[in-house]
Amino acid sequence: MPVLEINAISKSYGKIRALENVSFNIPKGSVFGLLGPNGSGKTTLLSIVLDVLQANSGVYKWFGESPTYLHRKKIGSLLETPNLYHYLTAVQNLRITQTISGRGNEGDIHAVLEKVNLHERKNSRFSTYSLGMKQRLAIARAIYGLPKYVVMDEPNSNLDELGENALVKTVQALKANGSTVVITTHRPRLVGV
Ligand code: ADP
Ligand code: MG
Repeated sequence: MPVLEINAISKSYGKIRALENVSFNIPKGSVFGLLGPNGSGKTTLLSIVLDVLQANSGVYKWFGESPTYLHRKKIGSLLETPNLYHYLTAVQNLRITQTISGRGNEGDIHAVLEKVNLHERKNSRFSTYSLGMKQRLAIARAIYGLPKYVVMDEPNSNLDELGENALVKTVQALKANGSTVVITTHRPRLVGV
């Protein structure tokens, strides 16, 4: 059974048709890349399957069932704009992720911040980070506690070369863990790892 089934999803913003009749399945254990240029509807599609946006028509199923909050909790995710708490530090932000997801422990918070090279600044507020650092924290949140299901929208945006190398390693580690990973990108390097 596929992890995610997308069936005939369409979405318009007024006159702009962002998605038309999109259907495909995401197999369990895959690293699934959605490649497409700017404006091709990647963020719109991921926002729909993460229940942030409503489709005009079509359905999707997580784990063969109509999506619920409980399914959603199993999925580590990152959407286009990192929406973390601005006045909280990296550690405080991840403690909230820990509470909501029910995954991981305090040690995992420090481990994931090391993985994304943010450990030195772990006690600085999110609002004081550069764009690339914000993106690193958003990645840390998506992969925190090694979720079995991860959805990331252009995770490489604003990352430098080192950050991108770390991201590729992270995706490889998720794959080795048996996780299913969905990534949108316009950079083919990130898919097929
Ligand atoms: P991608 O993530 O692939 O760059 P998007 O899903 O962001 O693409 O956008 C797909 C299309 O929908 C684009 O034409 C974009 O202009 C349009 N669009 C996205 N969000 C909005 C919005 N909030 N209001 C109006 N149009 C939007
Ligand atoms: Mg996008």
